[in-house]
Amino acid sequence: MVYLQLEEIEKFAKENNVPIMQKDGIEFLTKYIKENNIKNILEIGSAIGYSAIKMALVNDDIKVTTIERDKNRYDLAVSNINKFNLNKRINIILDDALKIELNEKYDLIFIDAAKSQYINFFNKFDKNLNKNGIIVTDNLSFHGLVEDDSKTNNRNTKQLVKKIRKYIEFLKENKDYDTTFYKLGDGVAVSIKK
Ligand code: SAH
Ligand code: MG
Repeated sequence: MVYLQLEEIEKFAKENNVPIMQKDGIEFLTKYIKENNIKNILEIGSAIGYSAIKMALVNDDIKVTTIERDKNRYDLAVSNINKFNLNKRINIILDDALKIELNEKYDLIFIDAAKSQYINFFNKFDKNLNKNGIIVTDNLSFHGLVEDDSKTNNRNTKQLVKKIRKYIEFLKENKDYDTTFYKLGDGVAVSIKK
């Protein structure tokens, strides 16, 4: 039952170009959550709720707070979350993540929103991370363009690639975190707070 509903969301995302996490990326993330006994999660960028639902389904006592600024996607996410009866464990907020203040602390923060703002998201929510918490970032490969941007001539895309490369440097140089980069999904980084 649950599997069918998840497949439906995957299909919807594909047909409507909603950039949900790729299969091996989300598998990696949920496995990490399970193995590291992660309970309280903050996600920046809910889209239609797919990754939030996948993370919440890892265990009955996991709580996810997720932020989405696009009203249409937010509405779809709310409806999907309700279909899974996860409304008590997934708290979805309709807002711009850079404009809201959260006081809670989380074991894991998943950054999966506007790529041009990654450094800002990281710096803003660093204070919401528990001791030994981790920040996971998605889409650091950007369809392989970060490794090789000769595949595009689009100015905006090239600008975005530059920003992602900057963020990768920022993570490598950040002395408060140990970051490992994984070549799976669309490129995933795991940054562990020291
Ligand atoms: N995590 C989702 C996919 C998120 S796609 C999944 O894997 O299922 C990225 C989403 O981030 C988009 O829906 C976009 O509207 C949202 N977003 C981008 N910038 C944002 C911001 N500053 N605040 C909140 N949401 C943002
Ligand atoms: Mg993503």
